[in-house]
Amino acid sequence: MLATGAHGSSLWARQGGAVHDYVAEMTMVSPGRAADGYVRVRRLKEGDSTEINAAKVSLGVLGAIYKVTFKLQPLFKRSLTYMQKDDKELGDEAIAFGSKHEFADLSWFPSQGKVIYRIDDRVPSNAVGNGIYDFIGFRATLSSALAIIRSVGYSRINQGC
Ligand SMILES: Cc1cc2nc3c(=O)[nH]c(=O)nc-3n(C[C@H](O)[C@H](O)[C@H](O)COP(=O)(O)OP(=O)(O)OC[C@H]3O[C@@H](n4cnc5c(N)ncnc54)[C@H](O)[C@@H]3O)c2cc1C
Repeated sequence: MLATGAHGSSLWARQGGAVHDYVAEMTMVSPGRAADGYVRVRRLKEGDSTEINAAKVSLGVLGAIYKVTFKLQPLFKRSLTYMQKDDKELGDEAIAFGSKHEFADLSWFPSQGKVIYRIDDRVPSNAVGNGIYDFIGFRATLSSALAIIRSVGYSRINQGC
């Protein structure tokens, strides 16, 4: 994830929207000279040198990322609600929606003209909820139903839709 520069929207991030924006230290292993025992272990720390900036998003070419220390924040609770709407205003609504909810997300289904908005915010740790995360993608689904969905999807792709 680090090597590929995986990132989010950055709409809310104080320090940046990418995973690598929160790295404090990393260790990389690469081939070395005979004198090094044929291995080189580099330990890079934020503030020590600018090399860490290149190492963070190196696409794997500078060596294997072996160990990473992240800057974390204390555990917190989130509240999630899904809302379905038609996609007529999606272009205008996306940024406003993303700016309103810290962990906002949306799934667009253009062939159905629908959008599923995920209203997702940080809440106090004593907030009461039902503790259920019933995102449809993680629910148990009959394999025969999946086979039908996939065959419909593939035929759409083959038709260039
Ligand atoms: C469904 C889906 C949704 C996605 N959504 C997003 C998104 O919203 N935003 C986003 O930014 N990206 C997104 N991605 C891309 C995703 O972030 C990258 O695929 C991911 O970062 C790859 O990391 P990996 O470790 O999982 O994969 P790998 O295939 O293990 O790694 C990918 C590359 O990283 C390098 N690498 C891996 N491990 C190491 C290591 N230990 N040391 C050095 N180099 C290494 C290698 O060069 C390797 O080829 C998405 C991908 C998928 C499949």
